[in-house]
Amino acid sequence: MKRVNIKCPYCGARAFLRPASVVYGERAAPGSKLYVCGNYPACDSYVAAHRTSQLPMGTLADKQLRRERQAAHAVFNQLWKSGLMSKRQAYLWLQAKLDLPECEAHIAKFSEGRCQLVIDLCEKFLGAQRRAA
Ligand SMILES: [Zn+2]
Repeated sequence: MKRVNIKCPYCGARAFLRPASVVYGERAAPGSKLYVCGNYPACDSYVAAHRTSQLPMGTLADKQLRRERQAAHAVFNQLWKSGLMSKRQAYLWLQAKLDLPECEAHIAKFSEGRCQLVIDLCEKFLGAQRRAA
């Protein structure tokens, strides 16, 4: 397994790969893991790890940023869940709109400002689709 050395962007402490139950308790999916700030829970910052590679899905996020990313995911997922495009097409659309390379075009890597931009772009797109329907 590749060792990953990531730091918390809020307090600078090192983040550690830990079972998700450390944060979610009994609600954690069995076997799921998170990178959690070494100062957790004083510093409430973490990010999910990929199940197979165990690499972080993005950058560590505090409560506010997690909320923004969840909101951005919710509206972005409507693009492909509605059948307007495939999931792959939706990610290509997002890359083009944000002018990002594929490896960077993941909501788990986005700042609050970029999440808000995703929400605005998706709502605009979905609104235009509704008007055209
Ligand atoms: Zn921290």
